[in-house]
Amino acid sequence: MAEAAPIADVLVVGSGPAGAMAARDLARSGAKVVILEQGSSAPVGNQLLGLLRRKEALHIAPGVVLLRSLRVGGGSVTFYHTAIAPPLSMFARRGVDLAAALEQVQGEIPNAPLHPDLLAPVAMRLALAAQSLGLPWQPLPKMIDQTLCHDGVCPPEAFWSTHGLLQQAVKEGAHLHTGVRAQRVLFAAGRAVGVQALCDGAQQTFRAGRVILSAGGVASPVILQHSGIEEAGEGFFCDPLRIVMGHLPITRGGQEISMSAGFVDAQAGYMLSDIAIPPNFFRAFAWAAGRPDQLLSFGRTAMIMVKIRDDIGGRIDAQGRPWRRFGAVERQIMQAGVEQARAVLRACGAGRPYVSPWVAAHPGGTVRLGELVDERLSCRSPNLHVCDASVIPEPWGLPPTLTLLALGKYLAQVLSS
Ligand SMILES: Cc1cc2nc3c(=O)[nH]c(=O)nc-3n(C[C@H](O)[C@H](O)[C@H](O)COP(=O)(O)OP(=O)(O)OC[C@H]3O[C@@H](n4cnc5c(N)ncnc54)[C@H](O)[C@@H]3O)c2cc1C
Repeated sequence: MAEAAPIADVLVVGSGPAGAMAARDLARSGAKVVILEQGSSAPVGNQLLGLLRRKEALHIAPGVVLLRSLRVGGGSVTFYHTAIAPPLSMFARRGVDLAAALEQVQGEIPNAPLHPDLLAPVAMRLALAAQSLGLPWQPLPKMIDQTLCHDGVCPPEAFWSTHGLLQQAVKEGAHLHTGVRAQRVLFAAGRAVGVQALCDGAQQTFRAGRVILSAGGVASPVILQHSGIEEAGEGFFCDPLRIVMGHLPITRGGQEISMSAGFVDAQAGYMLSDIAIPPNFFRAFAWAAGRPDQLLSFGRTAMIMVKIRDDIGGRIDAQGRPWRRFGAVERQIMQAGVEQARAVLRACGAGRPYVSPWVAAHPGGTVRLGELVDERLSCRSPNLHVCDASVIPEPWGLPPTLTLLALGKYLAQVLSS
């Protein structure tokens, strides 16, 4: 085993939204912060085989794949920038008041509804069709700096990711180690004293006065299981989705921003929006839907995402394999959303809509607030914290990034006070 790295005040595992915000704010408050990130900053590929090989795509149920990002920035590098505020009461009931942290995050990070000039022609057509059916379909709030967008086009730097937070953290003295996979938390006399990690094939120990696990809804419970907290990963949600597609009488064009408009129906348990996916995913979905006649129709296809709020179920095992089944209620909710999407596509002039397999993108609820973590996000030890989608305590069904940023800021404030 390699020499132990110098002692930090706080070790943050993972550089996704929650970890990056907590790290930046703690570094700003004067703490000596070390961030361990298993991924690299290499450009993101979206070939399905590569995703499966890198475990960025995981089979989680019969025919269902879950997507995540194992790289610097976590999900913020590949996400669709939709900024939905959390249901504050869900957290307040468990002693976590996120209101002030949320307000500060909203003051720092862009989250305004997309300006209608930035809706691509197909997204606008879908919005008008949905509104003609009486649906509350509106531009969605986006983590995009729209002041940088001109003539319907947003440059790459307009799209928010945690890279800015990480740069600020480093400027404040934090150290970001990439290619370091945390394996387990080390304890002495009931307190966390560091993390054992794998780095270039060798084990290394990182010592710290405090450990924050922000490795995401799949990885954090696995690290906890390897640290002796076996209940972690007992049940998870994943907000599964299907994409409903239809051939258009027009050709797509303009810069397409995924999830540019749509609506959340919290009562029905689903969210609908336009979506733009890479051509290889489109072809795989058309094939799986039994529509080989559509394989060459990417440029003339309108797509609607139907995302549902699923129950917490199944388990993530110690090897990091999530597995679960979706029940009758979840299938009914999905079916209702799909029918709604089909109606919008028909109103839009798209013929014979067809539907992708189920996909999931929001793993969470694996180390739930009120069960395994308390209001200081402490887990079993006063100086071991979990701060990512794992701690969301109930079935979710919403884009979680704004919530996770608020949780990161909340934790930094709790620890600095
Ligand atoms: C295609 C897609 C689109 C999405 N669009 C949206 C959207 O529009 N709006 C929204 O709010 N959400 C969206 N999401 C979801 C969002 O990206 C994630 O929910 C969010 O990033 C989760 O944040 P997190 O902080 O919990 O963890 P993550 O972002 O998953 O970050 C965890 C980090 O920890 C690292 N890590 C994991 N294991 C270890 C380890 N053992 N040691 C060290 N590091 C480790 C990972 O590499 C990663 O960098 C989308 C997701 C996908 C897949």
